[in-house]
Amino acid sequence: MPRVPVVGGNWKMNLARSAARELLTALRDRLGVLEGVEVLVFPPAPWLADAHDVLDGSRVRVGAQNTYWEQKGAYTGEIGPAMLQGTATHVLVGHSERRIQFGETVWETGRKLSAVCAAGLTPVLAVGEPFSDRRAGRTEDGLRRQLIEALHGVEAMPDGFVVAYEPVWAIGTGEAATPEDAQARCAFLRTLVAERFDAAAADAVRVQYGGSVNAENAASFFSQPDIDGALVGGASLDADVFASICRAAAAS
Ligand code: PEP
Repeated sequence: MPRVPVVGGNWKMNLARSAARELLTALRDRLGVLEGVEVLVFPPAPWLADAHDVLDGSRVRVGAQNTYWEQKGAYTGEIGPAMLQGTATHVLVGHSERRIQFGETVWETGRKLSAVCAAGLTPVLAVGEPFSDRRAGRTEDGLRRQLIEALHGVEAMPDGFVVAYEPVWAIGTGEAATPEDAQARCAFLRTLVAERFDAAAADAVRVQYGGSVNAENAASFFSQPDIDGALVGGASLDADVFASICRAAAAS
């Protein structure tokens, strides 16, 4: 079965409410009926309900950028996956900004991933090597650890599971990986999914590339056999640019 590519827009901690609603409306107008690609937007948590309202009835899905691993309780300031039900369908876990700036460990990422699955939401697991690992030839060891430990305790591959390969050195730098390099890493991640689950899971999992994707370079990634879309940061804040990336994925 051919895999449907998936393109996600990670807005990070950007946009006031009015600007967020404007962008959501523009995305609904441009992408609301686009077929051949699954489009996800990850707005900041306070605008998730706006995203759900504005995108209601369109094909664009809403994802949360982060979650806690408990479903509810005395955890001031946190948001549990159960609270996202009905508003978001997907949750991003393990983004390198969570790992690096907030000290999130692979164990914590794994607990989040399990909690997301337990709440019936779809995880988008971000993995990727820092430049130091790349230089030292440790990229694959690091990716293996990030993927396998995050899936600790997960019995079967979650429905719709997405893995985002995001080399840390390419995020927000304007220096994307080459399509060939990204293809090799995404293919490696697919073999890890086969090892961890089975060949059918490896065939079904969507593996995105993320890191300085823009309207000009997107198609070169989507033409690679093991790259099933993109996770887009900066370029997802511009409706026309993001729409053109999504159309390139749909055409791939
Ligand atoms: C990201 O934050 O996941 C990302 C890939 O950012 P950018 O596209 O800006 O490099």
